[in-house]
Amino acid sequence: MKRIPLALAGIGKIARDQHLPAIAADPRFELVACASRNATVEGVRNYPTLEALLAAEPRIEAVSLCSPPLPRFAQARAALAAGKHVMLEKPPGGCLSEVRALEEIARTVDRTLFASWHSRHALGVEAARTWLTTQDLRSVNVRWKEDVRRWHPGQAWIWEPGGLGVFDPGINALSIVTRILPREVALVSSTLSFPSNRQMPIAADLELFDTAGVPVHVEFDWRHGPQELWEIEVRSADGALLLSQGGNRLQIDGREVALGSVHEYPSLYSHWGGLIDRGERDVDVRPLSLVADAFLLGRREIVEPFID
Ligand code: NAP
Repeated sequence: MKRIPLALAGIGKIARDQHLPAIAADPRFELVACASRNATVEGVRNYPTLEALLAAEPRIEAVSLCSPPLPRFAQARAALAAGKHVMLEKPPGGCLSEVRALEEIARTVDRTLFASWHSRHALGVEAARTWLTTQDLRSVNVRWKEDVRRWHPGQAWIWEPGGLGVFDPGINALSIVTRILPREVALVSSTLSFPSNRQMPIAADLELFDTAGVPVHVEFDWRHGPQELWEIEVRSADGALLLSQGGNRLQIDGREVALGSVHEYPSLYSHWGGLIDRGERDVDVRPLSLVADAFLLGRREIVEPFID
């Protein structure tokens, strides 16, 4: 199999924790170079900017972007304009219009754009989706709570416009909800809690309904700790499903259905490789649309300042 020469940009927490090991284990990709302003990766060529990398490495065919959402847009445009396939970390953009713009550019240059949602690749998600197609749903409860200091230490960008605040992890839950539920969901109200010294919320409470009127209640909170709670509970007329550990554990009526070590990023790269082979794109903006709706309908509450 011909390996796809790959570049990785934005070497921070997720690039080191997940992307580098997943790429190293994937026979389809060959990591050739990295772009990051301050960080370098051993064993490959390193550049301070993606533009410098693209100019110096014409052999690269694909670029995976792990930078925060706002600077990622210019990088994605540059990579597509240079004729590269592009994978975007979640969320796919700082706003919806830029994702649509990227899709248009990708279509024009006929390259694969993959807006990744790693949580959709958690072990229990597809089995949950299958079970739910057989059920008469009654209610959905999402609780996605963690300690921001543990999971986002020193990430100033996350509190700035475009950083999403508590929706940065919360959008992972929304990516699962929009994958497993059999019908579309619509937001009806949201309450957003902003620390008095921050631009983005530290907690959010959302009410949604699916098109059959099934209520979906969502709680996001970054003031939780020390053990994170990432779970989705669905009750139906005949049973109950619990997806926990971010989607990696699935229990149906108390019975263990799936439980495993994290395989999200290997699965993401495998999916992207398949898209490239088939000349397809995969861009689903529904999780980001729900976040945008939460800001559009959001009732604003000011809470105590957050000091990192
Ligand atoms: P991070 O630790 O801050 O790493 C991102 C890296 O991007 C930084 O280290 C920085 O490296 C580079 N960067 C920052 N600002 C930049 C700018 N203005 N222009 C160009 N490069 C810039 O953040 P992260 O946690 O890895 O998150 C990155 C993305 O992955 C986010 O969209 C996040 O939602 C997603 N994600 C994170 C996690 C997680 O657990 N942390 C999990 C899944 C997905 P240099 O200073 O070297 O340029």
